Amino acid sequence: MPAALPLLPTTVVGSYALPSWIYAADDWMQRGLYGPIDTAETFNDAVDRAIQDQEEAGIDIISDGEMRRRGFVQGFAHKISGLKNVGAPRKVGESGIDQEPVYETVGPVTVANGIGIVEEFEYLRDHTRKPTKVAVPGAFAITAWYKPVEHYKDRTELAWAFVPALKDEIRRLAAAGAKFIQIDEPIIPGYGADHHTPGDLTGMFNECIAGVSGVKFAMHVCFGTHKKIAYAKRTYAPFFPEMLDAKADQFVLEFANREMSEIERLKDWLSDRDLVAGVVDVRNHYIETPEDVAERIRALLKHFPAERLYLSPDCGMRRVIRYRAREKLNSLVEGARIVRRELTGKAD
Ligand SMILES: [Zn+2]
Repeated sequence: MPAALPLLPTTVVGSYALPSWIYAADDWMQRGLYGPIDTAETFNDAVDRAIQDQEEAGIDIISDGEMRRRGFVQGFAHKISGLKNVGAPRKVGESGIDQEPVYETVGPVTVANGIGIVEEFEYLRDHTRKPTKVAVPGAFAITAWYKPVEHYKDRTELAWAFVPALKDEIRRLAAAGAKFIQIDEPIIPGYGADHHTPGDLTGMFNECIAGVSGVKFAMHVCFGTHKKIAYAKRTYAPFFPEMLDAKADQFVLEFANREMSEIERLKDWLSDRDLVAGVVDVRNHYIETPEDVAERIRALLKHFPAERLYLSPDCGMRRVIRYRAREKLNSLVEGARIVRRELTGKAD
């Protein structure tokens, strides 16, 4: 059995920094130089390193680093039929989300064999004794770069088409023993100026988790981390209290990069839910010191009870340079220890 969680448990949002050698391996895979055994070994080794970094840093609830995924949601496209890759709208110049390939619907979308997250979880479960969490893209997130052309009148209808597959993935995750499942719904503008409401997000969230028990469900709402660039207005005010319609036990929200803005609203917004608060900025090359992190935690505790507070980076760490990602995890854990000592009077 995994160990009991301490006060102010530390965790991650999902993805972790890639080791440098994975870029070379990806290149060889794309050129057809790897067989299936080489590929499996490479991905397993990458997950092993992500587990090791989190364990050595002292993170309490770890992920598999999403090492088998490429891109936040784009990497699932090859598991979905009914889509056609029409390329990126822009291919030259500064980085932006318009440089990602767009997929147009050519008929009904189907996911015949799942999106692979159960298999990711099973490897993680079998290779650590730590409590684990797994992140699943929400129905809106998964459609971020899909453009409804055939069969769907708009993105909301297209997003609903993915709910049965996500629901099935989540049921199988729970059956495989997942205890923390997070659904990611960043405020992604998507292809064109799609408009979606908190009600759209919560309705899909609730349908995805319906009937599953014995799991702590979290909803991660962030402002995007495309190559360290955010792509939405950085305020939660338009989303709460409506987001509370989601039957989420926890909300995973970003605060570090927003200099802790809106923490005074937490007592109204999350009076009966857990908060997993982002206290490390994944979009900043600067490494927070443990004292920086401790200051952010102390600020949160003025507005939110320690008993319902978890700590994490703001978002996935896929875009952080690996050695700096490790340093940021170290500071997260040390910052939490400082405040834990202040609250309990004893070291852990
Ligand atoms: Zn995020």
